[in-house]
Amino acid sequence: MLDAARLRKDFPILDRTVHGKPLVYLDSAATSQKPKAVLEALTRYYSESNANIHRGIHALSEEATALYEGARGAVCRFIGAPKPATIIFTRNTTEAVNLVAQAWGRRHVNAGDEILLTEMEHHSNLVPWQMLAQEKKASLKFIPVTPDGRLDLSSLPQLMGPRTRLVSLTLASNVLGTINPVKEVQQAAHAHGIPVFVDGAQGVPHMPVHVMDLNCDFLAFSAHKMLGPTGVGVLYAKEALLEEMDPFLGGGDMIKDVWLDHSTWNDLPWKFEAGTPNIGGVVAFGAAIEYLERIGMEEVRRHEQELTAYALKKLREIDGLSVHGPLDPAARGGVVSFEVKGLHPHDLGQLLDAEGIAIRAGHHCCKPLLRKMGLMATARASFYIYNTAQEVDLLVQAILKAKELFSVVAHR
Ligand code: PLP
Repeated sequence: MLDAARLRKDFPILDRTVHGKPLVYLDSAATSQKPKAVLEALTRYYSESNANIHRGIHALSEEATALYEGARGAVCRFIGAPKPATIIFTRNTTEAVNLVAQAWGRRHVNAGDEILLTEMEHHSNLVPWQMLAQEKKASLKFIPVTPDGRLDLSSLPQLMGPRTRLVSLTLASNVLGTINPVKEVQQAAHAHGIPVFVDGAQGVPHMPVHVMDLNCDFLAFSAHKMLGPTGVGVLYAKEALLEEMDPFLGGGDMIKDVWLDHSTWNDLPWKFEAGTPNIGGVVAFGAAIEYLERIGMEEVRRHEQELTAYALKKLREIDGLSVHGPLDPAARGGVVSFEVKGLHPHDLGQLLDAEGIAIRAGHHCCKPLLRKMGLMATARASFYIYNTAQEVDLLVQAILKAKELFSVVAHR
């Protein structure tokens, strides 16, 4: 069983204070904190094995290459991919979406074609498709979001047609917390021969995700949201798709041979990894994956679901507070967006910060969704393996204090 109180000891940053109060970090949906095992892997790599990979014939280069490729193997195992060649390292989820929009999309999407997204996508899984659609004179369609924050799949048969080239959707919403029925969408799309891209940025860090089971064609996620360093992302794709795709970026490492007027491409996965990658970051990401594997992703999910259920209950007891998204903890991840009547989310965020509590306030890079909800911003608390019920209590107390302060100000 996951023991958050014990795990917290692995995260040095959780010992610090903010404005004289113990840090309560409730912003893991933006980026997670890093355990010692990850920090040490990064330091060890730079202290003992640092060299450029693949090209070297010296011991350090071979060691660095083995560590880098070892991390690819860990990612492959973690998401149940068929082979390491299907794992491409990028800078983040955003770059993985852009890679597919450019390298796959430019070849397969033409004038009059359609790409089907949802109304709850992060800008990262929207803007790259807008750019592609604009260039190709294609159009975007959207699976609507219901008032309780779920995808309205009743419209799916009308939305998918002979011109639909791709369906791309998030596994879990970074605003509403909703876990989407990706498998159901995948089955409907595949019945029409349409490939499916899954934005796993808020899913892969928080629950078991196996690509063979999900049967998605593409999956993207970011290391920094799952205990790893910033600057590392992953694109998984089915091998046949990667084989027929052109490279995204050109340069060193992605070539087999180069002449002055043309080049040939390297094998997978290196065809998509131009230039020196974030070697140290990837190696440390391998340590993050091993850390999560030791806990077990079922346990991670169970802990977050329990904590979210507790948070939903406690938060909803606060007069004037309403929670966005599904209220059933089984239907959502550990992201809780809420609104407190009479308190602007930014003011609330600042008052909580004064209590040492880090939440996020804003549009969460989902402006179209917030517009649909009639909001400019929400306050968002998000949980991970190191958060505890006591921290939820501190959040609740601090919101009550903020409310009191604002009502005093309002009545002056
Ligand atoms: N998709 C979702 C659902 C997200 O929540 C985020 C980041 O918050 C992203 C994509 C983009 O991730 P990154 O900034 O690491 O590229």
